[in-house]
This record gives sequence, structure tokens and C-alpha cells, in this order.
Amino acid sequence: HMPTAELQALDAAHHMHPFTTNNELAERGARVITRAEGVYLTDSEGNEILDGMAGLWCVNIGYGRTEMADVAARQMMELPYYNTFFMTTHVPAIALAQEITKLAPEGLNHVFFASSGSEANDTNIRMVRTYWAEKGHPEKTHIISRKNAYHGSSVGSGSLGGMSYMHAQGGMPIPGIHHINQPDWWGEGGEMTPEEFGIARARELEEKILELGEEKVAAFIAEPVQGAGGVIVPPDSYWPEIQRICDKYNILLIADEVICGFGRTGNWFGSQTMGLRPHIMTIAKGLSSGYQPIGGSIVCDEVAEVIGAAEFNHGYTYSGHPVAAAVAMENLRILQEENVLDHVRTVAAPALKTALESLTGHPLVGDLAIEGMMASLPLTPHKESRAKFATDKGTVGYICRERCFANNLVMRHVGDRMIVSPPLIITPEEIDVLITRARRALNETHAELKN
Ligand code: PLP
Repeated sequence: HMPTAELQALDAAHHMHPFTTNNELAERGARVITRAEGVYLTDSEGNEILDGMAGLWCVNIGYGRTEMADVAARQMMELPYYNTFFMTTHVPAIALAQEITKLAPEGLNHVFFASSGSEANDTNIRMVRTYWAEKGHPEKTHIISRKNAYHGSSVGSGSLGGMSYMHAQGGMPIPGIHHINQPDWWGEGGEMTPEEFGIARARELEEKILELGEEKVAAFIAEPVQGAGGVIVPPDSYWPEIQRICDKYNILLIADEVICGFGRTGNWFGSQTMGLRPHIMTIAKGLSSGYQPIGGSIVCDEVAEVIGAAEFNHGYTYSGHPVAAAVAMENLRILQEENVLDHVRTVAAPALKTALESLTGHPLVGDLAIEGMMASLPLTPHKESRAKFATDKGTVGYICRERCFANNLVMRHVGDRMIVSPPLIITPEEIDVLITRARRALNETHAELKN
């Protein structure tokens, strides 16, 4: 029951926040979130904030599901912890691995658990390199990723990511990781049609493979729909061409499903929505709807067999943590028994699309990019030419995010793009509230820019 200002002062004094400066914390202390229910957060001042981001794109079933708490409590009483190293296992990890592989595309029948997407992508780096070494190709170590991608914050996953401002801190990328351009037609397509641009950007993968030497490339990693890079929905021509290139050069395809997985694009996985055939999929976030930290790699038979024949000297104390696994299992039960994917496909995603399209009439807003329940609205001074603001990159987006927050709406900004990725269970009425608050924030941003 401490006053908000006191909590904020303590927070600024002792708590180091990810992706935040001390100045920001000192200027307007961090908002203290105290409770949540459905799609709404409550802060320490009693404000009800609509969470248009599902936390960090993860609370797919919404907040406040008491079944999740009950399962966690039961599991803690029965077996709060045991590891899965050195020939031991437990029922929650077995059951969850089986359930995940039932939902995954055909042939992906094995799960290596981690506690986060970052850890899972670190696993992937070592797994694909070990796979090729065991197959007698130890020189096949190079991994190709994309600029502006986000695959996590550990040294390995941050290297896979293509954020130059992250690479600038702490010695990333590690050797052997390369980045090609992303298929961002709105931002970088120039005069090309989206289809031409999709092909051109996919062909960069082929050029990079030929430059490095086919015999040296282990894998290509990408999100089916790039999330934290700004919800980059690729042109239709992009993924078939990428798939053709991976097949032709015998490159493993890793689909990072940390955001796209577990219903966000209307299917269990974004790979199904985009028609990919990955060898490995990274999962986290929606696997437990964020109620427990858990992630992993879903691995195809061929890779799992080769890795299993060797001893893969890799693992985390919390790989397959029983409480996290039991909670994730309950999340998957809720998603299935409550037909949440049907709700996405037939109710929530169409309603979100129509509602966000109504915002494209606003003078600041360019073309909507949307796939299922992930969307971005680019802010622009001139929508016909897809022009960017002359201010520092992201200033207008930052103002708009702050105006959203002031209007009790969480939207994120990636540069000057506004992102929406709400809980999948959001109703059309709640989407109306989201749009009303977003429109108010856009109007206030517009007014602020004129001053
Ligand atoms: N991969 C993608 C596509 C992500 O969006 C994220 C997190 O936002 C990660 C990996 C890293 O996951 P975590 O934050 O659980 O380490």
C-alpha cells in the first residue's frame, strides 16, 4: 500500500529495467501494474488500462485465469522441481512435449525445453552446428538471419537478431552469423510492387549462401511474420522463394515462432499460416500465455535423431521445469477446449482488421499491416509516398505510445510504427474500446506535432 511515487522512486533507485534509460524512469516513474483481468491491467492509481500488446505479445488467453494458478499450486505441492538431465524425467515434461508435437506440423516430433525464447535460440545455434558436425560437415557453421530481426537478448540469440543498436553493446554478433535485408515493402520497397520486392529480398538469401559457400551454411532463421521488427508481413512471393532456396542448398530452416506460435496468426503456428516447412521451431511466450517462463525448440525427426545419437552437451537447470510445464499444458487445454483459434479466425482477427482499417483514414496513419492478431500502423507525414518523418527515428512513434498510455491503452512503437497484438480472447466490444483510445492518442499526437 505504498504510495505510487514512493514505489517509483524505489524502482528507479534499485531496479534495472530492460530497454529503458534512467532518465526515462526519473522523468515519469514507471507505471506500477498491480492486477490484471481479461484484457485489462490495473495500475497503482486504479486506472484500467486496455492491454493492446498482451504483455510482450504473450498473454494469449488473457489475464486472471484461476485454473492456471490452481495447476501451478497443485504441481508445486506434488513436485515443485526436478531436472531432466542424466536420465531422469517427470510427467509434466513428458505430457507437454507430447502435446506440443501433436499441434506442430508433421515431422516435428521432439521438444528441447528452455525457460525463454532467448535460451531456445541459443540451443538452436548449437543444435544446428552440432547436427552438421555429426553428419560429417563440421565446416557448415554459418547461420543467416535478417536485419532488424529480434531473436532474444542473450549473446547467441542477440547475435541472431539483426538490431544494430544491440550489436553495438557487448560484442555481438558472435562469429558466423550474417544478416540479409528483411521483406519490409512499406518501409523499403521503393517503386517495386510487393511481389517483385518479396522475390528480390528472398534472393538475397541465395546471394549470401553463394557468397559464403553452400558447404559452409548451416541454417537460415526467421520469424514467419517479423514481430518486434515492426510486424513485417512479407509479400506473398517471399516465403515460397525462401523455401525453394533452403531446399535447393540443403540449409536447415529455423522458424522463430516465439510470437507467431500458439494462435497469434490464427493457426497453431505462423509456419502453417505462411506455408513453411521448418526443421526447427523456436517457441516461448504463448506456450504458457506468459503465466510461467518456458520456451523450447521443436525439432524434426532427422535433426533429433542425429543430435540424440551424439551426447548434446547442452541444457538448462529449468529445462522442462515441472511447474512451468504443467501451467503450459493447462494453457494448451484452455486454448483447445475454448476454441480460441476459431475465435481468432472468425471473430477477433476480422474485427481487429476492420477496426484498424478505420484508423487508416487518420492523417498520420499509412497502410495497415496485419496477420491474424498482430498488426502495425505506420505513422507517416505523407501516406501516398510512404514518407518517413524527418525527426529522429521513432520520435513520433514514441509520442504516440505515450499518448496511448495516457489514454489507458498499451500500444508499442517500433520506430514510427504503432503495434497492436492483444490477447487472443479479446471481444469485438473490447476492440471498439481499443480503437476509441487509439484514435484519441493519434489525434493528440497530431496536435502535438503541429505545436
Ligand atoms: N524470438 C522472438 C521472435 C521474440 O519476439 C522474442 C522476444 O520478444 C524472443 C525470441 C526472445 O524471447 P525471450 O524474451 O523469452 O527470451
